[in-house]
Amino acid sequence: MGNTLIHARCLNHGDREAVARCPECIQFYCRECISEFNGRVVCSSCLKKSTGIENKKRGSLAWLLIPFYLGIAIFVSTLFFYTIGQALIKIPSSFHDGTVWQKGKLLSD
Ligand SMILES: [Zn+2]
Ligand SMILES: [Zn+2]
Repeated sequence: MGNTLIHARCLNHGDREAVARCPECIQFYCRECISEFNGRVVCSSCLKKSTGIENKKRGSLAWLLIPFYLGIAIFVSTLFFYTIGQALIKIPSSFHDGTVWQKGKLLSD
């Protein structure tokens, strides 16, 4: 009595002796409840949790990046078309002789 290492029971199966300790939740488990994943021995619930978190992280990151890139794309295109629009407005009648581009007056003011 008192030695938890020897008398440890599986968290899920109280009648079974634990064979391993999950490093994630620091609980004892029987052979049936423990499994190896990426060279580590973890319990089935922690295995589910770790794989689920990894999947969620990848998913949420992707969802965060899509509007982020969309925002950048919209911003850049808006800026681009705004600049083009301003340039078109400012283009004087002398556009056709090509002097505007050489003088660099497009973005002034
Ligand atoms: Zn665990
Ligand atoms: Zn068990």
